[in-house]
Order: sequence, then structure tokens, then C-alpha cells
Amino acid sequence: MSVASDQLIDRLTSELGTDSVITDRATLEAHAVDGLVPRAVCSPGDAAQVAAAIRVCGEAGAAIAPRGGGTAVALGNVPHRVDVVLRTDRLAALVEHDDANLTATMEAGMTLAHLQTHLAQRGQLLPLDPPRPDRATIGGIVAASTNGARRMFYGGVRDLVIGMKMVLPGGEQVKAGGKVVKNVAGYDMCKLFVGSLGTLGIITEVTCKMTPLPERALTIIARDGGSTAEGSGAFRLIDALFASTLQPSAIAVLSPRAGELVRAGGPGVATAVAVEGFTEAVDRHVRDITGMAAAAGLSAEVLEGPAHERLWAAVADFPRSREGEALVRLTVPPGAVATAVDALSRVDDSPVYVAHAGAGTIWIGVEAARAATVFAALTSVAGAQHGHAVLASAPPEVKRGLDVWGSPPPALSIMREIKQRFDPQQLLNPGRFVAFL
Ligand SMILES: Cc1cc2nc3c(=O)[nH]c(=O)nc-3n(C[C@H](O)[C@H](O)[C@H](O)COP(=O)(O)OP(=O)(O)OC[C@H]3O[C@@H](n4cnc5c(N)ncnc54)[C@H](O)[C@@H]3O)c2cc1C
Repeated sequence: MSVASDQLIDRLTSELGTDSVITDRATLEAHAVDGLVPRAVCSPGDAAQVAAAIRVCGEAGAAIAPRGGGTAVALGNVPHRVDVVLRTDRLAALVEHDDANLTATMEAGMTLAHLQTHLAQRGQLLPLDPPRPDRATIGGIVAASTNGARRMFYGGVRDLVIGMKMVLPGGEQVKAGGKVVKNVAGYDMCKLFVGSLGTLGIITEVTCKMTPLPERALTIIARDGGSTAEGSGAFRLIDALFASTLQPSAIAVLSPRAGELVRAGGPGVATAVAVEGFTEAVDRHVRDITGMAAAAGLSAEVLEGPAHERLWAAVADFPRSREGEALVRLTVPPGAVATAVDALSRVDDSPVYVAHAGAGTIWIGVEAARAATVFAALTSVAGAQHGHAVLASAPPEVKRGLDVWGSPPPALSIMREIKQRFDPQQLLNPGRFVAFL
């Protein structure tokens, strides 16, 4: 930084006002990123104030860590520097809800739970399942672009975002995409910012596609007490499902330990199949899927209402249940999930995992002490299936020196140029992204 902390704090305070800049020790420590304690925490009240704060930090050479609900601040490499944590919690308004066209525009600091409450009153929802929706913000969800169980049915974050407004490191306020699907020509800048982890700009507003609330939603849990997925009929059932015309909204295979953690009830590997839609279609799915489960040698029970919601909230929260431990996310083609899950038992004799069979995402819990070794082993498991492994969370002392994003992407040189073009001073979440970008 080119100025002293108190000068930076004075400048931020003169731009944002006293109440919006916090410097007490306890708050600063509570906003540490991988152990790096910021010099100030600020909460701009609107996009213009975000721009002013970024300009002040730019002039001071101060590194910024954007923060929404803080439920995923563990995601990413240990940052090179953190001088200012810029919170989006005061940008929490619903800008517009065009329910006729199933789109809504909200400020980036709005929590998903708050949005869902509003949408439910109009019979709609945003089908995303991050951990802690009561804290996860729309901006954070878009910046992290980590998808949940229902991606296989509704699409992922990248498919649901159609427009956004951002503030770039120079303080420019820019707009990408629009209020209706694909109404702009040129490069799709929205897609560039989805999953950019706050390294190219700060998202201040997002427009997403909504979907009608399903008439009915429930889960079929199938199990046979088998302790390994390979041993149980789980993937026989899933193969039958994939070979059918049925369209479940989510399929999760839970290892015995993961089943306990998410209180899926009962011993052994469990396969949870969620079904959503019109009552007739749901009834048909229940009939056919319980038949398929029986054919695969599995017993099946149906969870509906609060039991159904509780299960998927716990499944979404599984990654966060690993606080203090480590978590690896494998992404493989859906058809390779069975092979990848089978390979887990060669890396860990009692693996703790949740495998989203329809989306090809496997979350694996690992003891922190073994994280580096297991991550390396799982990187080759994913590689063998044309997939990818990310160390999604781990204590900073484990992450230091590791690139948590795994092997560098082929287009790394272009990514470096994009980062350099957008953020020449390397101020936004420096070092957090792939290859320490
Ligand atoms: C281990 C793990 C598992 C996860 N599993 C899932 C899952 O299953 N499904 C799912 O949907 N999500 C998942 N997520 C992602 C995550 O929980 C949320 O999607 C989302 O990132 C949380 O929002 P937040 O507001 O708490 O973000 P934060 O934790 O505050 O921020 C997340 C990242 O985004 C950046 N950021 C935040 N706000 C902005 C902004 N306005 N502009 C630019 N950058 C910003 C931050 O700097 C940070 O790098 C997971 C995350 C982790 C770490």
C-alpha cells in the first residue's frame, strides 16, 4: 500500500460516512480471509459508493476482498493481501420482478432466502441451493458459481444469470447482459464474471431467470444397508434412471457417514432422488422410481414436506459441515460418477462424500492433516475421468503453497491477460484464483 492505514481509513470515511467504515479489532478479525486480517471493513450503500471505495483503494494501492454473506470466504487460494473487506450487505434491495417474463433483478447483497420469500409470494423461485441461503448473497453465489444438487434439472448459476451491473477496479460502473434472455450483441461479459470470484470487479446488481414453484416436491430415499456405493445398488438404480425418460430434479448418493451428517436416517449408502413438478408427474415418478429401486435390490421410502426440505437443506450444507477440516470438490462427467466414487475407497477406506450423480459433482470430506495428499490423489482420480478436482475449503496452513484450483487451465495465458486488463494493480482478491491470479 502506498499510504498509511489511517489515511486510507480517513479517505474511505470521507467517501462513505463514519457508519460505513469499521476498524475495531474484533470486527476486523471476524472478517479475516484465510487468517489475513484487513485494516478496514466498509459497507457502501449503493453502486456509486462501491465505485468511490474502489477508487480510494486504487489510489492507496489497497487490496480489496469483496464479501457477501461470508459463507464461502474459504473458497480460493490464500490471498496475497487483504487491506479492505468490502461488504455488499447494504446493497440488498429487489430492483424489479417481472413475474410475467419470469425474471427478477436484485442488488448483489440480497440474500437468497430473502429473495425466495418474495418470489414464493408470486409462485416463483430461483432454483439454486447454496449452503446457508439465509446468509449467501446473490452476488456471492454468482461470483463463486458453485452449483448445488438441482443443477441437473434447472441448470447452474451460469445458465440462470442473464444480466448484471459491476464496478471495475478503476471505479467504472458497467452493465452486461440485460433484463431478457440474450438481448445484447458481442461477447457475453456476464459469463466472464460468473465464477470470477471477485477478481475482475464487484458485482452490484444481478438479473436472473426464475422458475414457477413446483406443484409438488418430494424425495425417494433408497438404500440396502450396503456400506460402499459399489457394493450397494445405488448406481444400478441411477443407471436405470438415466436410461429412462424420468426427470428427477436431483440425485445424491450419500456415503454412510455423510448420511449420518445430513440425518438421511438408516445405515449404509443412501441414494436420495428428488422429484418436483405437477402432481400427476410426481406420482408417476414415485411409482416408477420405487419400482426401479426394488429391481436394484433397494428399499425405498418417500419424504415429503418439511422432511424433504430438511434433507436437501442439510445436503446443501454438507460442505459447510466440514469447518476446520478440508473439502475436495470433484467434477466429472455424470456417467463417470460411479467410477470416481468407487476410486474414493482406494484413497480413503471410509470416504465421507455426497455425490450429485446428475450434475457430476462430488463433495468429499477429508481430515485437514491428510488434505494435501488426498487432494493430489483425487486430482488424478478426476483426471482419469476427464474431470477436475478443487480443494474447496481447508485451513490456510494446509492451503499455503498449494494451488487449490488444481492443474492450471489450458487458457491460462489469456486469463492472465484478462486479469491484467481488468485489474492492472492486482487489487481485487489478489492471488485467490486459478494459478494465483
Ligand atoms: C466448500 C463450499 C461448498 C459450496 N457448495 C455450494 C453448493 O453446493 N451450491 C452452491 O450454490 N454454492 C455452493 N458454494 C458456494 C457458496 O456457498 C455460495 O454459492 C456463495 O458463494 C455464497 O455467497 P456469499 O454471499 O456467502 O459469498 P461470500 O462467501 O461472501 O463470497 C464468496 C466469494 O465471492 C466473492 N464475492 C462476494 N460477493 C461479491 C460481489 N458482489 N462481487 C464480486 N465478488 C463477490 C468473495 O470475494 C468471495 O471470494 C459452496 C462454497 C464452498 C466454499
